This record gives sequence, structure tokens and C-alpha cells, in this order.
Amino acid sequence: MNHRLLAHAEQTTRRIAARALRALEHHPRQVTAAIAAVLLGGGGGAFAVANFGPDAAQVPVREVVEVVQPLPLAAQVEALDLQALRLFRSDTVRSTDTVETLFSRLGLNDAAAAAFVRNDAVFRTQVMGRNGRGVSVEADGQQGLLKLVARWVPDNDGTFKRLVIERGYDHKLTSRVETAPLVATARLGGGTIRSSLFAAVDDARIPDEVAMQMADVFSARIDFHRGLRKGDRFQVVYETLEADGEPMRTGRVLSAEFVNNGKTHSALWFQEPGKKGAYYSLDGKTLASLYLASPMQFSRVTSGFAMRMHPILQQMRAHLGVDYAAPVGTPVRVVGDGTVEFAGWQGGYGNVVHIKHNGSDTTVYAHLSRIDVRKGQRVTQGQNIGAVGATGWATGPHLHFEFRVNGVHKDPLSIARNAEGAPLTAEARPAFDKLVGAMRLKLNAAANLATVASAE
Ligand SMILES: [Zn+2]
Repeated sequence: MNHRLLAHAEQTTRRIAARALRALEHHPRQVTAAIAAVLLGGGGGAFAVANFGPDAAQVPVREVVEVVQPLPLAAQVEALDLQALRLFRSDTVRSTDTVETLFSRLGLNDAAAAAFVRNDAVFRTQVMGRNGRGVSVEADGQQGLLKLVARWVPDNDGTFKRLVIERGYDHKLTSRVETAPLVATARLGGGTIRSSLFAAVDDARIPDEVAMQMADVFSARIDFHRGLRKGDRFQVVYETLEADGEPMRTGRVLSAEFVNNGKTHSALWFQEPGKKGAYYSLDGKTLASLYLASPMQFSRVTSGFAMRMHPILQQMRAHLGVDYAAPVGTPVRVVGDGTVEFAGWQGGYGNVVHIKHNGSDTTVYAHLSRIDVRKGQRVTQGQNIGAVGATGWATGPHLHFEFRVNGVHKDPLSIARNAEGAPLTAEARPAFDKLVGAMRLKLNAAANLATVASAE
């Protein structure tokens, strides 16, 4: 046995351990981020992947050191000599990154590889400058690049691209782009509202998109803009679209339970064969409504603004609408299908849009900074028709919204509550009930997770 080699091996092992320790010190808490999505076995097969949410902005930084299998000492020494160690490291690109700063965070010190990626057209366009994009590398013990992988989702066609830059046995670097299907996995989450819904989802590491979807799902039952209470709580099961296990996008909310002001509301996504999918309460009542309860999507921006009354108009006459305070430019959406009856300037209303939904129902959206529709145009529920402004008699930027039935002003929330969409058919009921059983288990698991998290 060669003593010098042994000493070398021992040193290398010590170096691996030191590196692993350093890695743990730098990124200690990432391990806890992996939520028990494993709990979710069956029951998910009925769902199709449909909604692609916005890019997952932040991919957690991960750092893993390969576990080395114990080998006979001679083989071990040989293995260490051949490929002393492979270090796996991941990080996310920052918009200000140069190849050097990115490589240095990834623990690489490899001038030849830096030159190679700088000349790689795909790396230049799909990695550099792409804030938040994940990059993972394998490096050797001399901080040389062995393999680099970056993934992204170019379209909503259910696939992702994978850039692989790899050093071959001849030590030459090659670059290739592969296409592979995204995999939908179900995740659980839950939380309690202490200050706001967005603070609660932040605490639970649930994406914003999930909070916004929940607000839409329950919009006819819960007023997310004005009716949330401290102590309200929720559990949710939602899809995450993954590329090689890396979360890329938020998919659809599959089921949720929301306790608002002591009352429990539940929702389950269900699609009857040959029909459009929709949300139902767990007892089978439809949650779909001909009208959305709010013309403003519940978001981080709109949720932070307290609702105010309308001082100028109020002095002129009784206030006949609902005011939503929000920054100029916040999108305004139409609450139901219909036709644009008026789009233009109208005295105290400023820029205003009137939508006729049927023989009796009209909605009005006033003080807009911008109008995106024309008179006579058909619009569909949820479509953007303009943006919040302060035109006409408005002391500050807000949306003034009215719901009129035969010319008489009504409360939009009670209208939304009473304008139910199509109910579940009798034929679909057995399949629906089976799904409810599976979902209850998952929601209970989410509730337990939330309890554990809040006890920490
Ligand atoms: Zn108003």
C-alpha cells in the first residue's frame, strides 16, 4: 500500500467533510422547505394540468454533497484519484450577474468553462440576465466544471427546456438543449391569518398565485377585500409543475377549505367528462357564479389598501356603489359575460365603462385611467376592461363599481352569491363523492401540517 496515496486520500476526505460543513453553514434551513408532498398518493389522477401560473420567482438555493459509498480502500483511493469528488451546487441567477459572479457563487473557478459558456448562445440568452432562474452544477475537487444544467418553461404546452453543458471524457465541453414534460405534483399548505392573507401564505411558503386563486374560488362566499378576520384559517391542496423535481410554476388549486369569521367554506376542482371543470363545495354545490364578487383581482397590491368612501360624490347624493382603493394602473376586470354599452367620459364618473350582461343587469366601472374596450364589444367574465385611475370626481385613485338590476343599485356580493352557475349532474355524483373522500384526507393532513408549523 502506498502511504503517500493514503495520506492524500485522508486529506481529500477531510476536505470533502469541511466543504460539506461549510455548505450546511451557508444554507442551513433549506432542508426544512421540502413539504410533505409525499403524503399525496392517489386521488390526483382525475385532474388535468391546465392553468400555468407565473414563473416561480424564487427557487430555493440547494447545495448537496454526494454521499460516497464505502469501497475497499484500494478502490477508494483509485476513485478519489480519478474523480476526487463531485460537488453538486445550485443557485439562482441575479439580473446583475456576470459569468464570473455566477460561477463564484456556484463554487467554480474554471476559466476555460467560463469562456465556453460566455460563447454559448443558449446560455447567453436563457441564463444570463434571467433573474431567479435556477442553475445547478457539478464540479470536481479543483473547482472545475463537470456539468451545468439550467431549466426553463418557454410556453404553456406542458414541457420545459433543459440546457446541459457537460465535460466529456476527452475533457471537451459540449452544450445541448433537451425538451421534457413538466410533472404536476400536489402540495399541501395551510395557515392562519394574523395580519393579512399574503402574510399568512408567506409564513407557510405558499405561492402568491395560490392565494389569488383561493380568493377567486371563494369570491362569491367570502369578501377577501373587506371581510377577512384575524384568526381566519385555511388549508389548500394545489399543483406545482416541476422540471426534474425543481418547482417551475404554480398550477391549479385542487381543493381548499377556508374558515372565515367562524364559518367553514370548502372547494374542490372537479371536471365532468366532456365539460368545463369548475369548483364545488365538498357537499356538491357549485361555487361558480355568473358574476365575480369583485371587479379587482385580489392581489398583494389591492389587498394592502383599505376601502374608503367617496367624499365628493357622497356630498352630491347617496353613495350607490362600492369603492376599491388601489394604485393608478391596477387592472379592472369585468365581473360577468356581456357587451360594452358605453365606454368613454361621463361627468363625475370620468372615464367609465358600462357593461350590459342581459335584459336586466348592468355593471359600471368608473374613474378609470385607461379604457381597453370599445362600445359594442363582447367581453367575458374576468377580462380586463381598463385600469384604476382618478378621473372625474375622485379625490384619489380608486375604482367606483356599481351593479344595477333594471336600473336599481344592488350589492354586488349578494348578486354574486345568488347567481349560481350550473350544478353538478346526478351522473357525476358518484365520481365526485369519491374524490371528496380522497381530498378530505389531504385537507386534514394540510391542517395538521399548519398546526405543527404554527407550534414551532
Ligand atoms: Zn364611489
